[in-house]
Amino acid sequence: MKSPTYPVVLTIIVPVKNEADGIEHFLNRIVPVLENIPKKPAWEIIFVDDGSTDGTLAEILSSRSKDSRICAVELSRNFGKEAALSAGLDHARGAAVIPIDVDLQDPPEVIVAMVEKWRAGFEVVCGVRTNRQTDGFVKRSTANLYYRIHNWLSDHKIIEHAGDFRLMDRRVVEVVRRLPERNRFMKALFSWSGFRETTVEYQRNEREAGTTKFNYFKLWRLALDGITATTTVPLRIWSYLGFVLAAVGLVFAGWLVLDTILRGNSVPGYSSLMVAVLVFGGIQLLSLGILGEYVGRILIEVKQRPVYIVRDSFGLEERE
Ligand code: UDP
Ligand code: MG
Repeated sequence: MKSPTYPVVLTIIVPVKNEADGIEHFLNRIVPVLENIPKKPAWEIIFVDDGSTDGTLAEILSSRSKDSRICAVELSRNFGKEAALSAGLDHARGAAVIPIDVDLQDPPEVIVAMVEKWRAGFEVVCGVRTNRQTDGFVKRSTANLYYRIHNWLSDHKIIEHAGDFRLMDRRVVEVVRRLPERNRFMKALFSWSGFRETTVEYQRNEREAGTTKFNYFKLWRLALDGITATTTVPLRIWSYLGFVLAAVGLVFAGWLVLDTILRGNSVPGYSSLMVAVLVFGGIQLLSLGILGEYVGRILIEVKQRPVYIVRDSFGLEERE
């Protein structure tokens, strides 16, 4: 397949929410990197303003007035980082696309290595964090646990400790864009799409400006999205568990009947009854809750609402 030519070789997508302090700093660091990639590919940076309320957009536009390769998409409200990334992918014109956070936790210098591997024929080049020391103990261990559970449950393994910082070939971008689902857990979409993946390793740094926009509850929601978007194992285990419990219950019932016949009804303890009620009640609520997580997501998918809404865009025409 001969690939069509693109006006831009490399698109950098930067989702931003209330990052006014970080924009200029970010550009000062990334632009020299982009300018010095071997063979000087034409590039563009697309900021996706995800409902900022602090003058982030003004900051971006002031940079744009100095360099027209800096573009912006303004969303009508905060849709969340994953939706902002989708908006970026829909507007990107590059033959390769790299999402990156504005806080410089992922060093832009890595982009050079990514482009090199892309030119060598890889379609997805994942940035993999070799240390997560900057993340704190709790975040690190919960992340580890999450990757463990995700990869145990689902058929399409995600690469551990790879964030959204990765290069995608246009072919991959088109596949991801065409996926109809609203729940866009990007990491899993990539592995599902089955393209040739490779990795580059890097050290993750401290945030350079501002504060993290993710609290543990948001991360928990993200984790749930990830699991429910990729596997139905949590839905299906209940029938097995139910089967095992029913079998055990049956044996126990048989024993009770025998016991009553042979030794007379001695009205056995309150505690065993209570334990059974609580355990079964708990299991039922848990399984109902999991059912609810999936049903709620089905509702969202069925409504077919757009993933994001654009208020305005700067330097980008709408693309099909
Ligand atoms: N972000 C966004 N929308 C949101 C939350 C975050 O566009 O609702 C952006 C944020 O501005 C930053 C990137 O996503 O550029 C990563 O956010 P953050 O650094 O807070 O996440 P962390 O590194 O702590 O996981
Ligand atoms: Mg960050």
